[in-house]
Amino acid sequence: MGSTITLHQLSKTYPGGHRAVRDISLHLRAGEFLVLLGPSGCGKSTLLRMIAGLETVTGGELLLNGRPADDLPPSERDMAMIFQNFALYPTMTAAENIAFPLAARGDDDHTTVQAVNTVADRLGIRSLLTRTPAQLSGGERQRVAMGRAVIRRPSVFLMDEPLSSLDTRLRVRLRTEILSVVRHTGATTVYVTHDQAEAMALGDRIAVLRDGILQQIGTPDELYELPANAFVASFVGTPRINLLHGTLYAPIDGTMTVSLGPQKLELPSELAQGHQMLRVVQGRPLLIGLRPEALRISSTPAPHERTLSVTVTHVEYQGHEVLLHVTAGAQTAEVPRSAPVDEQQPASGNPLTAGIRALLGRLRGALPHRPHPPTRSAPPLPDRYRVGELVLRARQGTGYRTGDRIPLLVDMRALMLFDGAGHRVFPHPTHRPDL
Ligand code: ADP
Ligand code: MG
Repeated sequence: MGSTITLHQLSKTYPGGHRAVRDISLHLRAGEFLVLLGPSGCGKSTLLRMIAGLETVTGGELLLNGRPADDLPPSERDMAMIFQNFALYPTMTAAENIAFPLAARGDDDHTTVQAVNTVADRLGIRSLLTRTPAQLSGGERQRVAMGRAVIRRPSVFLMDEPLSSLDTRLRVRLRTEILSVVRHTGATTVYVTHDQAEAMALGDRIAVLRDGILQQIGTPDELYELPANAFVASFVGTPRINLLHGTLYAPIDGTMTVSLGPQKLELPSELAQGHQMLRVVQGRPLLIGLRPEALRISSTPAPHERTLSVTVTHVEYQGHEVLLHVTAGAQTAEVPRSAPVDEQQPASGNPLTAGIRALLGRLRGALPHRPHPPTRSAPPLPDRYRVGELVLRARQGTGYRTGDRIPLLVDMRALMLFDGAGHRVFPHPTHRPDL
């Protein structure tokens, strides 16, 4: 049976002072499949290695089955880890590689052979058991590595981008296999990936990290439908969510409207009801989030739809569908940067920075004086030069051409609003779906 894993404000500061993981708290149920998702360098591997006991914890607490585990050596955590660059023993056959953990533990030959065959059947590699790693393809080697990890039935699987070196088709197939093998053992799993599609396909829940900070933890549909912030909204889903600059107007006795550049969308009153936050953010710059499926082309709106007049800028043929790029005259918005704590510290407090400063000072002293070039700050471009695109899906054969002017319907129930810091303000932040 799987272990429960509890992180309480878990942090990791590396010896150089870099805070790779910051105050992460979460709880994994026994047998749960959790995906850690985030861009490269956000601290996923660090967090996984702390759970494995391969990296020291510098702040907070790690509990396994409710008991403090910070001082537990890796060998006593009953965990199996699978990496991207899995290392099989090159001189051993696939069977010997898979059998290794049982042999090392001293299981008898009969039990071991039986276990190897069972695992090999489940992974579809029975016919490959006599081959050495050099005689196997990448996907086959990864299956053998899986076999070696599952054979001793650990309580926890830790997987660090195990499929990222494989081609797309194989990845899709293997992730289904991983899921079925892992489910069968009942182990608790933490799976690291930077691929949102993989995360959505695998996770019971997904924890999204950015700069070592937990942004949101939730089921795949929670993250998709109710992202906590613009970062999560834009990290999850393809094509990416459309983000535009806009403003909300909320007159006391009138209809609320969202302005997108030169155009306006009325907010249906039933959606705005009881939402005090909207009054707070009104008049301030907001980010408007619209997923591609919130947009459709038609001239007959349903009650929850509002119309924008848009111009087709690009038609992208995809085979099963066409992606239509259009503009409504509003500006594209970027996801607000997070402000890592390190960057807010005075630079002089960092010994490395101080050292480099001193070095540069000495070098400059030895060079003929040259005045600093004037700092160039680009003048703000007029809006029309930064007009943003919206992407939506259209069926094949719609026959749209660049330059066509068409009515675009916006499903206002699918509208998302984020404040200047990127936090979601609409739908209401406290709104939680039934789980
Ligand atoms: P991810 O797995 O999400 O790509 P990592 O956990 O490997 O991210 O790294 C998170 C951050 O910590 C990165 O900025 C990385 O450079 C830094 N880092 C990782 N390992 C070390 C280390 N041993 N010493 C110092 N910094 C490290
Ligand atoms: Mg990593």
